[in-house]
Amino acid sequence: MVILSLSLGDFVWVDTGTGVPIGAEVKVTDTGQIQLLDDEGKEHKLKKTNEKSIRPMHPTSVKGVDDMIRLGDLNEAGLLRNLLVRHKEGIIYTYTGSILVAVNPYQLLPIYTIEHVHMYTDRRLGELPPHVFSIADSCFFNMRRNRKNQCCVISGESGAGKTESTKLMLQFLAAVSGQRSWIEQQVLEANPILEAFGNAKTIRNDNSSRFGKYIDINFTKGGAIEGARIEQYLLEKSRVCRQAPDERNYHVFYYMLMGMSAEKKKILSLGNAAEYKYLTMGNCTSCEGRDDVKEYAHFQSALKILTFTENDLWEISKLLAAILHLGNVDFEATIVDNLEACNVHTSTNFKMASELLEVDPKALGKGLTQRSFQTAREHVTKSLTSAQAMDGRDAFVKGIYGRLFIWIVEKINSAIYKPPDEENEAKQSIGLLDIFGFENFSKNSFEQLCINFANEQLQQFFVKHVFKLEQDEYARENIVWKHIDYQDNQRTLDVLASKSMNLLSLIDEESNFPKATDATLLQKMNQYHEKGGIYLPPKNNYETQFGIEHFAGKVFYDSQGFLEKNRDTLSSDLIKMLEKSTNKLLKQVFCNDLKSTSGTFYHSTILITITSLDSLMKTLTACQPYFIRCIKPNDFKKPMLFDRELCMRQLRYSGMMETIRIRKAGYPVRYTFDEFLTRYRVLLRTSICDPKTVKGDWKTGKTKIFLKDHHDTMLEVERIKQLNVKALLIQKVLRGY
Ligand code: ADP
Ligand code: MG
Repeated sequence: MVILSLSLGDFVWVDTGTGVPIGAEVKVTDTGQIQLLDDEGKEHKLKKTNEKSIRPMHPTSVKGVDDMIRLGDLNEAGLLRNLLVRHKEGIIYTYTGSILVAVNPYQLLPIYTIEHVHMYTDRRLGELPPHVFSIADSCFFNMRRNRKNQCCVISGESGAGKTESTKLMLQFLAAVSGQRSWIEQQVLEANPILEAFGNAKTIRNDNSSRFGKYIDINFTKGGAIEGARIEQYLLEKSRVCRQAPDERNYHVFYYMLMGMSAEKKKILSLGNAAEYKYLTMGNCTSCEGRDDVKEYAHFQSALKILTFTENDLWEISKLLAAILHLGNVDFEATIVDNLEACNVHTSTNFKMASELLEVDPKALGKGLTQRSFQTAREHVTKSLTSAQAMDGRDAFVKGIYGRLFIWIVEKINSAIYKPPDEENEAKQSIGLLDIFGFENFSKNSFEQLCINFANEQLQQFFVKHVFKLEQDEYARENIVWKHIDYQDNQRTLDVLASKSMNLLSLIDEESNFPKATDATLLQKMNQYHEKGGIYLPPKNNYETQFGIEHFAGKVFYDSQGFLEKNRDTLSSDLIKMLEKSTNKLLKQVFCNDLKSTSGTFYHSTILITITSLDSLMKTLTACQPYFIRCIKPNDFKKPMLFDRELCMRQLRYSGMMETIRIRKAGYPVRYTFDEFLTRYRVLLRTSICDPKTVKGDWKTGKTKIFLKDHHDTMLEVERIKQLNVKALLIQKVLRGY
């Protein structure tokens, strides 16, 4: 039990029984009563009964510290309050060791000027207040000094500030790498293009990236940017056909409809966004604060910089227009041979779609309303119901858009990437990973499973790194230490992707069986994983939801649609139709499918995800990593509003707690000899210096003293006791009650 001796103006932790303890200041009311005013402005009366729920606050937590590792209260409440007090002062960056925590300010801050670039150039991490430029500078400096590739993993949930942080890193690197040359400008201008095709307004973020990306920036030996390569992951294709309420389709559609000249629009037979089903599902066609006309102009100039020609843009616009027209195509239900069937309603939209795709309208109509397949004996054609036809049409549109996106990224790469030549094979590089964070919505599906799988891998990478840092520090200080036990997420990864019959392989295998259904998939998952505790089987036979115990918590996924989503099938009839198309770009984006002779056009999403993540993990592992953890302080995109609960949740799954856990398993409290002496000189002649008390599990290294938490608490309590002689003892007041 900690002795409670409080003075006015002291800070304490109050455990309210709900959530993590909150910080509070000791105040006196007008009537002379002592009370506590917590960080959210709530008052707490001081009573004997709640004395137990009050703990003294470590001095480091009162005003906050630049590096959370230095917090005396190295726990959830300590981390959370540290971010809170800094956020109140408009300080958005904080370190946890070398990890940068960035809280989205939701306002433009004057901290990214060229003066700031200069200020942070060639400085050691921690020398100046925490800043994203400091991370960028460390990457650059270490790349050059150690001749080792660097990477920076930028994570956080949607709207937390990943993409902005990535852009700031790039901006810094472009600035320090030398003159503003053409290639630097090209690398910077790749962004507006990627964002036009891959970003959209969502309820969480007005400019939400709906894909993950890794930008590898290559430098010459002299440290100038030489080129870059962009890798993209898991574009959310469903958005092209459907949007949730208050959300938009990809920016590029609105840019085009608002920014393109009237003549060109006329040729493509385009109107306003409101006229297209694919653009109005979310009942939202404009985005506050985003000027689509201006953005279109920027988009066009960026395309020029990245060597897209006028004609390229025209061909791209044709495909985008074709998509919009296809979305407006209607199907009329009919009955053929006593079976449900449908016809295409031959509207202007339909005619324009076939004109722009440069295919025979009859072939398009047939491709959309019928499906042919091969049985053992013959080739048969089956009519589709209008619902099936619409699904097939949507799959076709998603197929076009997804491939167009990949083509755009490849084209950008062909402009900015210089493959290594023989003389100069070993390039130095800095990679920036801007990838969707862990997702847990009220309804989760296949997409969330893929995203969360990626996050499990990144988490493991992170934990291994933090653990290694810890060991390195002990080695540097010549400290002998026992093996540190810490939790990792290997078991979840095993069940997801490594063990035999792992979940992802089961999904993929079932996708290959024409007769398999989501229900048979679920049965198999139950059969192999029911018992392990990582996979949580459905509660009963009717339930389609299964759960997975992720590092960031349980997530329940609805298995309905899993196989279809993984297969990502395109009708072979439509692919065959494309063979005859005269649209060069269309044929180019489908070139791999047209080359394929197998006759089935299914792309295992899981296979693509695993392959690209494997390659990403290999790349990351070969680099010295940095981490930026972006935190969204509130759900309202508002400045100066800090939602403690929301932030706590993000801190928990950002891996920050992992850092703390690993530290706590070792010796979390470290002082240099000087610091230690200055701080605890007052205890020199007290009983705490008695050899009997001093015994225990603590270490002295070469330059530092390493302590367990309880040592620090004991030292602090004693120190405060010694210092408190002059302080007002509120205990007396309390006794008076
Ligand atoms: P994410 O990529 O994590 O989904 P973004 O980087 O797109 O999030 O950030 C969402 C929005 O938050 C941005 O459009 C911007 O308005 C704001 N924002 C993020 N970081 C900053 C920052 N450092 N300074 C000012 N505003 C920011
Ligand atoms: Mg983003």
